[in-house]
Amino acid sequence: MQIIDGKKVASEIKNELKIQIDELKKSGKNVPGLVAILVGDNPASHIYVSSKSKACQEIGMRSVVEKLSSSISQNDLIELINKYNQDENYHGILVQLPLPKHIDEEKIIESISPQKDVDGFHPISVGNLLIGKDTFVSCTPAGIQELLKRYNINTQGKHVVVVGRSNIVGKPVANLLLQKNQYANAIVTVCHSAANDLSFYTRQADILIAAIGKAEMIKADMVKEGVVVIDVGINRIEDPSNKKGYKIVGDVSFDEVSKKASYITPVPGGVGPMTIAMLLNNTFKAYKKLGGWN
Ligand code: NDP
Repeated sequence: MQIIDGKKVASEIKNELKIQIDELKKSGKNVPGLVAILVGDNPASHIYVSSKSKACQEIGMRSVVEKLSSSISQNDLIELINKYNQDENYHGILVQLPLPKHIDEEKIIESISPQKDVDGFHPISVGNLLIGKDTFVSCTPAGIQELLKRYNINTQGKHVVVVGRSNIVGKPVANLLLQKNQYANAIVTVCHSAANDLSFYTRQADILIAAIGKAEMIKADMVKEGVVVIDVGINRIEDPSNKKGYKIVGDVSFDEVSKKASYITPVPGGVGPMTIAMLLNNTFKAYKKLGGWN
């Protein structure tokens, strides 16, 4: 059994990007830039945005965080996004979700220029992914594919079972691995809460992707010997032995499932770090597409 070390791969990706950005700086060129827009006081959103901004700084990318009051109107938020749609110094625009209830998330996502949609949530990006066109793929699914690629895990003709059908993980990762290309071309099954007997499906998986949001739900008797397990879940459970009183676990019961798996991602340190690395990667891609490279 091999652990898929997302922390290590994410750090390799960041180093690769940093080398390219250092070169740009040396030749006096503009560097890629990412704006993160944060509305309101959600503590988790603040943590996510600050780690994204820190990651940009680490690799020499320009980064700005727009911190806005939760009372901002939808129109004012769209106006700010429009400003960054026009700003040549910023190639990626990220609006941290969730947004306050009076703001229509779909309208906000649609107001981001598809050329700067580094989160890959814009309907144009989603549609392009579906029809197999080069596009911005949302960061967690892109990170999952990158892990499979870097660990040389063959997906061709393999049965990938995805548990979860959210718009940010389940559906896009299923679409990504379904595409007819070298790092995909899988036979994909997507499960959700209406599955009567989930293990009927999960036991067939060559590659199991768990994006459920339920702590340690996937047990050893739900998988077959040799399965590759990608655990997307991030769940907090009580742990009196920990100073904080809790610990973070995935959707997979790591101790028991790892005994049957050929590869498995740990939580933390698996898929999580890849999400930010792929955001940086997408921002670099936007920069190149927008002509910053020339
Ligand atoms: P959602 O809550 O949006 O989706 C969960 C999915 O799991 C739904 O499709 C739901 O089905 C399905 N589900 C729930 N219970 C069951 C069940 N008993 N059997 C089968 N399917 C079930 O979650 P997200 O996709 O946003 O996130 C999933 C997990 O991944 C969370 O723990 C989240 O924190 C984590 N996450 C981690 C990221 C990272 O960077 N590592 C990034 C994003 C998320 P239905 O559609 O029918 O309700």
